[in-house]
Amino acid sequence: MRGLAAVPSYVVMQPTTLCNLDCAYCYLPFRAADRRMPVPVAEAVAASVNPWAAAGRFSVVWHGGEPLAAGREHLAALIAPFGAGVEHHVQTNATLIDDAWCAFFVEHGVRVSVSVDGPRERNVDRVTRGGGPAYDRILRGVTALRRHGLPFSALAVVGRPEPGLATELYDYFLGLGCDVLGVNIEETEGVNVRGNSHDAGQVTAFWAELVAAWRREPRIHLREVEWSLRYAAAVLDGTADDVLPRRLDPIPTIGHDGSVTVLSPELAGFTDVRYGDFSSGNVLATPLAEILLHATRTPWVGEFLAGVEACRSSCPYFGFCGGGHAANRYFELGRFDGTQTAHCRNSKIHLLEGVLEHARDHQSPAA
Ligand code: SF4
Repeated sequence: MRGLAAVPSYVVMQPTTLCNLDCAYCYLPFRAADRRMPVPVAEAVAASVNPWAAAGRFSVVWHGGEPLAAGREHLAALIAPFGAGVEHHVQTNATLIDDAWCAFFVEHGVRVSVSVDGPRERNVDRVTRGGGPAYDRILRGVTALRRHGLPFSALAVVGRPEPGLATELYDYFLGLGCDVLGVNIEETEGVNVRGNSHDAGQVTAFWAELVAAWRREPRIHLREVEWSLRYAAAVLDGTADDVLPRRLDPIPTIGHDGSVTVLSPELAGFTDVRYGDFSSGNVLATPLAEILLHATRTPWVGEFLAGVEACRSSCPYFGFCGGGHAANRYFELGRFDGTQTAHCRNSKIHLLEGVLEHARDHQSPAA
């Protein structure tokens, strides 16, 4: 795997910077301001995306801010330029979801992913703009999805991995009814400067416990565990070199103003004296396909690719990880060509170790 692919597998779109919540760990700098994406930005993105979608599977992920805070009418106008072959996803805090939004999801074929951190007492960081708990509103939105029979994914942030938590979370999400679950250990990035260093043994034990909970009742696609098992299986059958893509997916994030930030949505909206605003161009001036062709010329991207090469030559986990995480390098190390971060230890190294630890502890005596 070397360099950036010219065609991504999905794009992230920011229909508004606004979020109606004010979560303690949020990385977004302008979440109190309603800067909306004009329709010409979506039209410009669709001009590149529609041919890609005609050639294979392609997704647009509506992210934020809180994407539903843009309102149904505006979101529909932003979706309209995309062709029928484009799959739409929305990452939402669910607090605005009601019957009308559920009808919207059905009409526009939008797949929903809900951010919720587990049972009520695990959601103390998810608060309203007034600082009140958001949990009841989140649950109301999820209940509406279930009432309409809409399948949904869930994304949970874990602040402090501790014994028992993984089982508690998995059981909660089984009951919630999601069909896919992603688990993120909180990251130090953007305007969130809270530390994310944890005891290695505790993080490894957290992931091992999550695998054990999942194996008891594997009804949910558990994103991190499935990645790890796919890699472990490839190592065993000698195809580990094929796990990583030939080139890194550029995953362009389209900001509300049409600016394009590759690799890490978390960098969008930030500036740095060395790297400028991190953008590789603006779709209102240059077609997205052309911006991506030249994205490696963006100064920080070249530095990041040097960091990926440093990972390749120094890290035994590279074959699993691929050395991603541009924003984590920048916000933790202050530059892009470093290697290990607390984030990659939490979410790649100890994840793989946890899955292997579970396998070792449960291997049959004959093995
Ligand atoms: S685990 Fe960390 S150090 Fe290793 S390849 Fe990934 S980013 Fe690089």
